Amino acid sequence: MAEKHNKKRCSFCGRSEDKVEMLMTGIEGYICNHCVEQAYTILRDEQMLHSESHFEMTELPKPVDIKAFLDNYVIGQDEAKCALAVSVYNHYKRLMQSGKDDDVEIEKSNIIMVGSTGTGKTLLARTIARLLKVPFTIVDATVLTEAGYVGEDIESILTRLLQVADYKVEEAERGIVFIDEIDKIARKSDNPSITRDVSGEGVQQGLLKLLEGSVVNVPPQGGRKHPDQKMIPVNTKNILFICGGAFDGIEKKIAQRLNAHVVGFDSVQNKLNIDSKDVMKYVTPQDLRSFGLIPEIVGRLPILTSLRPLDRNALRNILTEPKNSIIKQYLKLMEMDGVELTFEPEVLDFIVDKAVEYKLGARGLRSIVETIMMEKMYEVPSGDDKTCVITKDYAEKQLSKGLPEGVMYS
Ligand code: ADP
Repeated sequence: MAEKHNKKRCSFCGRSEDKVEMLMTGIEGYICNHCVEQAYTILRDEQMLHSESHFEMTELPKPVDIKAFLDNYVIGQDEAKCALAVSVYNHYKRLMQSGKDDDVEIEKSNIIMVGSTGTGKTLLARTIARLLKVPFTIVDATVLTEAGYVGEDIESILTRLLQVADYKVEEAERGIVFIDEIDKIARKSDNPSITRDVSGEGVQQGLLKLLEGSVVNVPPQGGRKHPDQKMIPVNTKNILFICGGAFDGIEKKIAQRLNAHVVGFDSVQNKLNIDSKDVMKYVTPQDLRSFGLIPEIVGRLPILTSLRPLDRNALRNILTEPKNSIIKQYLKLMEMDGVELTFEPEVLDFIVDKAVEYKLGARGLRSIVETIMMEKMYEVPSGDDKTCVITKDYAEKQLSKGLPEGVMYS
């Protein structure tokens, strides 16, 4: 009997300490692991019931705040950052206005970002997603094909959004979708009659439906639709679309257009002083059309912004400046093993040189650093050294052993 009283018991369910895996002590009594788990489930269900959504907007971030946030992670690209910030801010305002009886209806302003690969389009989209209080997803336009062809139906763009929103249609209908590689669905030739353009105009027509705002039937699991699948109707009227693409070769078309003007009497060159190294910044909707996007799509992407090519300076900053820069990540990894890592400044310049040489831009920086660091990352955790210094000689030696991923012998 005495033993019964001596045993510690959960103050909630009364189970004794030998009947549970863990008994936690409080000021007035004890609680066992079963009761903690049960309490957690009750709390979670209760919260889900009462909170309308986990994407609730508490305060509206101003364009300046959005841009400042992007600055923490993305180097340069101010024009694109401002365009994104304004667009996302307006998107929020539209959402707040929607449903109110108002005679001025604010139309959505989908965005298109044009810039060579590795200049930060996806990074911008990903970074903004961290800040957002609406469902957000990134989809790749390359997998899309016209209904009836191998690939994914256009509607599957919205599947991911639905998944992110836990299949809460109302939430998905306020979301933001980033469509990457939009240039890949451009019409391949000016003469559409030669062959069927599977991933060209038909896909653009399908996409147009989404951009314009309509109710589309979305396959809940994505992929291709099939007859006995239950579809979820989603209204895209309030979904903001951000598109990105490299539009390889568009510079030529821009230059052609600019040159055509230069030939004219009222020379644009005289007026604008064209920067021939960065013609991308002169991109207009007309250039997107000559590249092969149908005019209706271009019209539905009213905010057109371009990203600058990254120069050596920008690449050097990308290595060290962003909050989660590659170098900072390595310092942290080593610090977790109690090791102080240092890169000699010439190493950073060397990495930039190599990224430029391999023509990989910012995308190459990580793989170069990884190749240089691989051996150290393997050895250092089991060694006794508390410091690790990377010299240029060491970096050169490591890099000469194997080319980083994505680099091919020419
Ligand atoms: P894109 O979508 O334009 O092809 P990404 O955004 O995927 O290029 O860039 C690839 C990688 O290069 C990113 O993950 C990031 O590490 C780096 N990067 C590219 N541009 C920038 C930038 N402006 N600032 C910081 N990092 C960048």
